[in-house]
Amino acid sequence: MQLHTHRHRVSRDQEWFTREIVENRERVRAAAGAGAVHFCYPGGNYLEEFGGWLEGCGVETATTCDPGLCSPESRRHFLPRFMDMNSVREIEFRAWVSGFAALMPRRTYAPAGGQFLEDWRKQPARQG
Ligand SMILES: [Zn+2]
Repeated sequence: MQLHTHRHRVSRDQEWFTREIVENRERVRAAAGAGAVHFCYPGGNYLEEFGGWLEGCGVETATTCDPGLCSPESRRHFLPRFMDMNSVREIEFRAWVSGFAALMPRRTYAPAGGQFLEDWRKQPARQG
């Protein structure tokens, strides 16, 4: 069990961003009994400055939703990945596992909207 922020949100503000990591780490420690040092960006949303902020929080690696395979050139706070889900066909999965898919043209991942704390707070209060 590793880090994913406590509210499934990131922030453009370093203090709020760090709070999410610290609170999430406390909850993970309580549930899993161990400290968490790996992180996955909620909704695939990240900014360049997040790498340094994560480093400052003791986070060793972070995974994006950018499709790709890791290599020695991958930056450890912005790792690409293969996103497996029910809609992925067997042949696509095999292509990724073999490394062949990394050679093929592909769509980039569009980060999920509303994943920044600042945007979340601006939403109107829900009725009922
Ligand atoms: Zn998530």
